[in-house]
Amino acid sequence: MTDDHAANLVDPFGRAITYLRVSVTDRCDFRCTYCMAEDMTFLPRKNLLTLEEIDRLSSAFIQRGVRKLRLTGGEPLVRRNVMSLIESLSRHLGGGLDELTLTTNGSQLYRFADQLADLGVKRINVSLDTLDAAKFSVLTRWGDFNQVMRGIDAAARAGLKIKINAVALRDMNEDEIEDLLRWAHGRGFDLTLIETMPLGDVGTDRTDQYLPLSLVRARLSQHFALEDIPDRTGGPARYVRVRETGGRLGFITPMTHNFCESCNRVRVTCTGTLYMCLGQEDSADLREPMRASDSDELLHAAINNAIARKPKGHDFVIDRDSAPAVTRHMSATGG
Ligand code: SAM
Ligand code: SF4
Repeated sequence: MTDDHAANLVDPFGRAITYLRVSVTDRCDFRCTYCMAEDMTFLPRKNLLTLEEIDRLSSAFIQRGVRKLRLTGGEPLVRRNVMSLIESLSRHLGGGLDELTLTTNGSQLYRFADQLADLGVKRINVSLDTLDAAKFSVLTRWGDFNQVMRGIDAAARAGLKIKINAVALRDMNEDEIEDLLRWAHGRGFDLTLIETMPLGDVGTDRTDQYLPLSLVRARLSQHFALEDIPDRTGGPARYVRVRETGGRLGFITPMTHNFCESCNRVRVTCTGTLYMCLGQEDSADLREPMRASDSDELLHAAINNAIARKPKGHDFVIDRDSAPAVTRHMSATGG
């Protein structure tokens, strides 16, 4: 192996790539209105990387300096045998990898929480936009609120640290953010609020969903003391401590605050396409170089080429006339 293939990954703007998000499937048991159309067409299964290939690809990135690996999707826990992948990847913990984690809608946690904890997963992100079971049904179309609650309870019992991610949605949950905050912090969970991003056609007008977090923050400030804190979790969230609850609240504001300057991450889809930026179309196929040879030479060369093209940032815009900034859905790239 040449030195070039052993070196840590650094992009042209001097940003070290230490965080990889891997989408293990584009499929999901929910159809959240801001994420998917109801009649989604999924990829043929033969296009997907096998679990062994996902392991090989992830391991190549870990060899190149990635220290945090997040599995996502689609819904990662609906991929068949996903626990065998997690078990296999857990061998890197305490070696190259500091953290192995996942983002989930929570629907399968009641089955897998204990096993995740046993395999060394310490923290998980659970996406939950409302505490109102009826709204939950409307928002997720197919989700079962009680099953998710059962899953969250199981994860908490298993000792997993939980961060709740909620997308702030105009008219839908904007009157509930305070309740979500009190509930999450009351249970010892962090809460992170996310602005909707224009990813993929979901069959509705996104200007109807978009709620700027600057507004949410201003409203929360009327009832809570929000103290800026410097915590970074290797992601784009900015955090505050909520004095009244003692809990941590994060804001992910791709639309109102450009967080690209500190971007340390890249994403791989379930077909092995590497996206250097969530908000740009440029990508690199890693599946073919991986399949072309049993050695990882070609794979590392393709990774090097791609990282050399990581763009400085994205330029999302949400307005009534614009098409989605990128045509792929969040579920394809991995949220
Ligand atoms: N199914 C898992 C879940 O829901 O957590 C993982 C994949 S999902 C695509 C990851 C995250 O992306 C979720 O928190 C979801 O709310 C968020 N998301 C999906 N579409 C989005 C969009 N258009 N804008 C902002 N966040 C979005
Ligand atoms: Fe599925 Fe997650 Fe997208 Fe909802 S946000 S449809 S749970 S992938």
